[in-house]
Amino acid sequence: MAFDYDLFVIGAGSAGVRAARIAAGHGATVAVAEESRVGGTCVIRGCVPKKLLVYASHYGEDFEDAEAYGWSVPKPRFDWARLIANKDKEIDRLNHAYKSTLAKAGAELIESRAELVNRNTVSVGGRQVTAKYILVATGSWPELPKLPGIEHAITSNECFHLEKLPERVVVVGGGYIALEFAGIFNGLGSRTTVLYRGEQVLRGFDGDVRRFLQEELVKKGIEVRCHTNVARIDKAAGALTVALDDGTTIDCDQVLYATGRRPLTRNMGLEKAGVALDEIGTIKVDGWSKTSAPNIYAIGDCTNRVNLTPVAIREGHAFADSVFGDKPWIVDHVDFPSAVFTQPPVATVGETEERARAKYGAVDIYREAFRPMKHTMTGRTERTLMKLVVDRKSQIVVGAHMVGQDAPEIIQTLAIAVKMKATKQQIDQAIAIHPTAAEEFVTMRTPVAAE
Ligand code: NDP
Repeated sequence: MAFDYDLFVIGAGSAGVRAARIAAGHGATVAVAEESRVGGTCVIRGCVPKKLLVYASHYGEDFEDAEAYGWSVPKPRFDWARLIANKDKEIDRLNHAYKSTLAKAGAELIESRAELVNRNTVSVGGRQVTAKYILVATGSWPELPKLPGIEHAITSNECFHLEKLPERVVVVGGGYIALEFAGIFNGLGSRTTVLYRGEQVLRGFDGDVRRFLQEELVKKGIEVRCHTNVARIDKAAGALTVALDDGTTIDCDQVLYATGRRPLTRNMGLEKAGVALDEIGTIKVDGWSKTSAPNIYAIGDCTNRVNLTPVAIREGHAFADSVFGDKPWIVDHVDFPSAVFTQPPVATVGETEERARAKYGAVDIYREAFRPMKHTMTGRTERTLMKLVVDRKSQIVVGAHMVGQDAPEIIQTLAIAVKMKATKQQIDQAIAIHPTAAEEFVTMRTPVAAE
């Protein structure tokens, strides 16, 4: 049977665009449908604009710190509208760059919602088209719990377009998005409160990292309230009141809910096409990203495996090489690095101490906490944590963790060593670059005592 396209991609986020581009490069005829803006969550309303806001929010401290280094800085003024306008300009630029990437690759972009009619037919832009293969790369969307007044809360999507910087903000959640936005708002001058239902933020991260980060966030002026749940949100005279289940209330100007994201797969006709989903809408796939329908594949957040852009991009690349390039390979979802762009940031690769102990039994822990050199002059009390987790028997470094300035930049490089299964002794052979913070990773000689 002749099809209109070899491949129809639904979703022009990072993963879908990569898959489309590589498949087209292998000679496939490709169409990509996008109902929102090309670039997807990461580029339009996630990682990229978030990082720009993180940069913005650090300047307040930088101006203060400059004094110690001899600079006299007049009282700085911050203009939220200017920041948002400049950020929007950069996001527009990236949106065009992504479109031109697709065009140059020869993939057809259809700016419309697409729904599956059957295994080979897609309804898009008022017509039906057929494709031999269909790739679902629709990402995820913030999920809000049901509680009275939740309609007054915003999600990360809205944070990028607020008309003004809230004076007081309550952030609900203790994961990546909650803490990153808490850092942004706090850095820009909002009075910021984080409400987390558990014992300590960043569940799933290394225990030392969680403790250390929480202390640093509090030192920065963020109020972090653990074991705290919201009962309701009320709005009156433009302000919001968050009622907690312990009977207390907090008045604020915005409530940001960052309580997780769900696969964006509803009402897309997936079930009609024979694609199996779980109860929250996750598309079930095998290691090749193949769904229960043999010609339909899914990648990225809609498959809820490792919900990180670089992983999703790799899944898209592997799919396109495997199906259209005669170069089959699958993505290794083990030992991936990730970062939380808090202030200071967190970065991590491999096993936490807790997981390593469960997996390997005996482990050696190398840990240093210190005041970064820059702050010996500024008097700022911010500290840096670095930690290596080593399997005692093989001496392989199975995890590396850092909280501190430049942590994501440093851990990215260390991730190569962890992926190569470098031993502690091999890492020790690297000569330090002095004076840096990163040098601690190659100079930690003695495991933490009594562990
Ligand atoms: P996370 O799953 O990371 O965090 C959700 C947080 O909300 C957790 O602290 C969770 O608590 C809490 N929570 C969940 N449900 C409720 C509820 N009903 N009431 C109160 N609290 C609740 O999700 P995010 O939304 O922060 O991020 C989604 C994903 O996006 C991340 O997991 C990550 O994969 C990706 N991401 C990556 C970034 C990066 O690489 N820098 C940046 C942003 C997102 P508990 O711990 O108890 O479950």
